[in-house]
Amino acid sequence: MAATPTSARTERAIEILRDLVAFDTTSEKTNLPMADWVERYLVSHGIESHRLPAENGIHTNLFATIGPKGAGPAGVGGLGLSGHMDVVPTTGQPWDTDPYTMTEKDGRLYGRGTCDMKGFVACVLAMVPDFKARALKTPLHIVLSYDEEVGCTGVQPMIETFGKTLPRPRLIVVGEPTNMTVVDAHKGGSRFMTEITGKDAHSSKPQLGVGSIRIAAELIAELGRIETRLKSRHTDPRFDPPYASITVSGIEGGVAHNIIPPSCTFRWGVRTLPGLDAMTIAAELQAYAERELLPAMRAVWPECDVVTTPVGILPPFASGKGSEATSLALKLAGQNETFAVPYGTEASHFEAAGSSTVVIGPGSIDQAHQPNEYVEIAELEKCVEFLDRIAAWAEITPTPA
Ligand SMILES: [Zn+2]
Repeated sequence: MAATPTSARTERAIEILRDLVAFDTTSEKTNLPMADWVERYLVSHGIESHRLPAENGIHTNLFATIGPKGAGPAGVGGLGLSGHMDVVPTTGQPWDTDPYTMTEKDGRLYGRGTCDMKGFVACVLAMVPDFKARALKTPLHIVLSYDEEVGCTGVQPMIETFGKTLPRPRLIVVGEPTNMTVVDAHKGGSRFMTEITGKDAHSSKPQLGVGSIRIAAELIAELGRIETRLKSRHTDPRFDPPYASITVSGIEGGVAHNIIPPSCTFRWGVRTLPGLDAMTIAAELQAYAERELLPAMRAVWPECDVVTTPVGILPPFASGKGSEATSLALKLAGQNETFAVPYGTEASHFEAAGSSTVVIGPGSIDQAHQPNEYVEIAELEKCVEFLDRIAAWAEITPTPA
């Protein structure tokens, strides 16, 4: 059978992307209709997929294998093509077109998720007939997750089944937008919640109370000082900005004008560089509270407390230029330079679980999460060519034992 020309494959990817964009898969909404669609599409090509439903009943992961299955329930290694099905909300964003109706203009495809990252998923699905047509020696897995945009939480239960009910891919390509350049490192992104228990009192008797909002202010100021210390201690010029950054993103507290507020909660996050564990920053904040704040608070009211809870931990990703996945991606993409990016992806979780991982996908992160998000058709074209080279590699490369 003659190989499909790139233009026809790209056309196929565009048609699939149109269908995928039409599903509003904002993280908090269901992704089941999109999963149904993908499942039906794969069945139409004779491929069975496995669902890993979430406990909330409205989300599911999807995993499918093309090529040799190998012996045993865990099968053989292979290469996983990974994407997330969820998208960020369009709430409050000034769009010129309907975000869920893909619109083509000047070589660009506009719509929510076209760039982050249904464009990559559409390219993978468009290549399925070509993957099927080859006698693959190494299996190619399609690895689709939910809840990536709310802390990369959906992929984790799927990874836990790798090597048990699902094969553990030896290699993973995460198709997040990198303009089809090879990314071998990214920052971690971890989120915390700090709750302060103070003591209420009438505001005319401040000596009887502990104002939790003022304590929060002290802690937030300390986070600023911690960030300054991090900047002077540890930088990495591959990243922009080259240091770990801390953001305080929300605060709640207070009862009435004349009441010392008994409780306050604030949310904060840290973007860590490889080599820095976000939990050490939470521990530093806690040590400050124990040393500088809690003794005086508890002298007024023994039950006063400061408690910091991790809400989501995404470790930094740093596979290195020489890793198996990175060197394969460089070879197949015909490039010799790798990049580091400041945003987080599921790559950290795959790499930590033992799959050699690399990030490369169509579109620019500058368009992700933005109003009038778009992907260039030329990027999809580069992506299908890259996927075709992966398939050619999988056809001649026996899967390692
Ligand atoms: Zn994404």
